[in-house]
Amino acid sequence: MKKILIFLLAILLLLLPTGVLAQQAQPGLQLGLIRNFGYGGLGKIQGRFTLRINDPPAQLEIVEFYFDDKLILMSKESPYEFKFHTSNFQDGEHVFSAVGNLKDGTQVESNRITKVFLSSEQAWVETQGLLVPLLLFTGILTVLGLAVPILASRKKEFVLGKYSPAGGVVCPRCELPFSRSILAPNLLVGKLVRCPHCEKISVRSRASLSQLQEAENKFRNNEPGMVTKNADQDYRKLLDESRYEE
Ligand SMILES: [Zn+2]
Repeated sequence: MKKILIFLLAILLLLLPTGVLAQQAQPGLQLGLIRNFGYGGLGKIQGRFTLRINDPPAQLEIVEFYFDDKLILMSKESPYEFKFHTSNFQDGEHVFSAVGNLKDGTQVESNRITKVFLSSEQAWVETQGLLVPLLLFTGILTVLGLAVPILASRKKEFVLGKYSPAGGVVCPRCELPFSRSILAPNLLVGKLVRCPHCEKISVRSRASLSQLQEAENKFRNNEPGMVTKNADQDYRKLLDESRYEE
């Protein structure tokens, strides 16, 4: 099995440089397709497009544009281009190419571009096919965007009286103060936060100075061990206990 893989890799490495060389050996005229309006994906297009000669050679005089190997336009000045709408042609596969006539009488050929023309109905079906996975993807990203700051904020240590530029808030459950992370997601009425004291997740807007001072006093009056219980301390306690076992 491994030998087969190595063999395949070797073939790939052999093929790669020849592919690059083949591209470099291509003729001088660079034909490009620009989408002005419409659908374009995976070799299929629908809408308004422009065929254009990119980086035309200085000696270039006339460009002949070919559509399915039939001359469709002669362009005598820069920008050398041919604008079209796919609905003016039949649905299905079409090939574009161009021939450039230089001042010294020589001709240069362009690359060939092959595209499948779709009707507007087909393009809509294709768009839906692309949109659904895209929506799912952005949905997953949004969920991650919400979840990551909440998980990350767990690790942050609480320091009394210190607040980020996003301000401090007071927990609705334990009524203790803590800092809002700048990275915490905004949910219109406030930021989504997790209380470092009791782990309650809530949406809080910035608390006023007097509200924070009141909450800080409440924190000071509490037993420190009772409120600032976190995983780190649990771990240290566990370590201490394990020492006694030995
Ligand atoms: Zn709390």
